[in-house]
Amino acid sequence: MKEITAAEFDTEVLNGGKVILDFYSTECPPCEALASKFEDLSRMYGNDVRFLKIFRQGNRDLSEKLAVKSSPTLLFFNNGQEVSSRLTGGIKRSDIIRNLDSMIPDERVSEIKSQIKPSVSEFDVIILGAGPGGLTAGLYLCQSKINTVLIDIALPGGHVATTHEVSNYPGFIEPQAGYMLSHSMSEQTKLCGTIYKVAVDITKVDLEKKEVVIDEYETVKAKRIIIATGTTPNLTGAPGEKELKGKGISYCATCDAKYYNDKEVIVIGGGNSAVEESEYITRFVKKLTIVHQFDKLTANKQAQDKVFKNPKISILFENEPRAFIKEGDKIVTEVENVKTKMRQTLVSDGVFIFIGMKPNIELFKDKLALDQWGYIKTDEDMRTSVQGVYAVGDVISKKYRQITTAVADGTIAAMAIAKELD
Ligand SMILES: Cc1cc2nc3c(=O)[nH]c(=O)nc-3n(C[C@H](O)[C@H](O)[C@H](O)COP(=O)(O)OP(=O)(O)OC[C@H]3O[C@@H](n4cnc5c(N)ncnc54)[C@H](O)[C@@H]3O)c2cc1C
Repeated sequence: MKEITAAEFDTEVLNGGKVILDFYSTECPPCEALASKFEDLSRMYGNDVRFLKIFRQGNRDLSEKLAVKSSPTLLFFNNGQEVSSRLTGGIKRSDIIRNLDSMIPDERVSEIKSQIKPSVSEFDVIILGAGPGGLTAGLYLCQSKINTVLIDIALPGGHVATTHEVSNYPGFIEPQAGYMLSHSMSEQTKLCGTIYKVAVDITKVDLEKKEVVIDEYETVKAKRIIIATGTTPNLTGAPGEKELKGKGISYCATCDAKYYNDKEVIVIGGGNSAVEESEYITRFVKKLTIVHQFDKLTANKQAQDKVFKNPKISILFENEPRAFIKEGDKIVTEVENVKTKMRQTLVSDGVFIFIGMKPNIELFKDKLALDQWGYIKTDEDMRTSVQGVYAVGDVISKKYRQITTAVADGTIAAMAIAKELD
C-alpha cells in the first residue's frame, strides 16, 4: 500500500497495471472505517492490484479534475483507464471485493479466496452497533465482567461521530464536537476490555442461534444479542439522487461541507438535523438555501432562531425536490411548490439531504415484532420478541431519539442481561 500525491498520479496510476485508488479526508468517519478494510484487502490482493491512497484535501485540483466529490471515494484503473463503478460513502468490503475480482482472472480469485481460513469465536454477549446505545451497553456489561463483543459495520461512534456539535449531553458545560464525544465514549468502553470488531461486513445474523457471521468467514457466537444498529438517512427518492450520491449529493455535513468553501449549496429538510447542519455548513459556503416541504421549519426554536439570523441562509418553504441533474460542475435541483405545483430549478455546487431516518433492521426484520414504522418493539427491560435478544437506542420503537435516551436504553439492557447471566 502506498500514499501518493497529485504529482505522482500519472506515473503511479495512468502508466499501466491494475490500481485501486482511495481519495480520503481527515475528520471523516467513513474514511476511517474504510482504512482498515483497505489495508486488510491490500494483504489479500496486493500482488495483483496496487493499493494507493491520496489525501483529498491536500490534492484538491486532482480531486476536482477527476470529479471526486465525496470522501472516501475509491477509483479502479486498469492500464490507465478507469474501470468498474466508483465506490463512495460507507463502502462495503464485499463491494470492493466484487470490483477487485472483476479486474483479475478467475483462477487467481479462487486462489486468493482459498487462503482465507474460517474461524469461530464465543462470547457471552454480542452487541450489534457501536453508537451511544451499544457503547453504553458494552461499558456496563464489561464492568459486570461479562465477556462482550461489539460489532459494527463502521467505526465506533454512530451518528454522534458525524454530528458537528452536541450541546445537550449532560456533564459538559461547553458544546462538544460530536467526534470527540463519541471518541471518549468508545475509548471508555474499550479501556474496560470490551472486544471490538468494527468496519466489518455482517454477512448473516441468526437471532435464534445467537450467531453472527462477519466478513463471510468469521462466526461469532453468544448467549445474548443486543441490537443497537440505529438509523440511516432517508432518501428523497427523486430521480438523479442515487446516481449523484457522492458526486455532489451528500448526507454528512462534517464529511463534505469543507469542500464547498465560498460555494453555494442547497439543504433539503427543515427539522433539527437540517437546520443544525445548515448552520455548520455556513462556516464554509457563501450561500445556502434550505428547501423545506412545509410552511414553517420543524426544528426546535433555538436552532430556528440561529438560522433566521444567519445572513448566508435563505429558505424556500413549501417546496419538494423532484429531480437532481448534473450539469458540468453544478447540480441542478428541480423543485415543485406543493400547493401551486409550479416548478423551478435551483443551481448549486452541492446538495445536502437531511429528511429524517429509517431503522437499520434489514438483517433481522422478518424475525422481530416491529411497530408500524418498522422500529423494533421492546419491553421495559429492552427485550425483543425473540428470547435472549435485546434492542436499544434509535432502532427501537419510542417517542424520543436522542443520545441520552440511547445511553439509557443501553444501560437498562446491560443491567437486565447481567442479572439474567448471573
Ligand atoms: C445530524 C444529527 C444530529 C444529531 N444531533 C443530536 C444532538 O445534538 N443531541 C442528541 O442528543 N442527539 C442528536 N442526534 C440523535 C443521536 O445522534 C441519536 O439519537 C443517537 O446517536 C442514537 O444512538 P444509537 O446508538 O441508537 O444509534 P447510532 O448512533 O445510529 O449508532 C448505530 C451504530 O450501528 C451501526 N450499524 C448499523 N447497521 C448495523 C448492522 N447491520 N450491524 C452492525 N452495526 C450496524 C452503525 O454503523 C452505527 O455505528 C442527532 C442525529 C443526527 C442524524
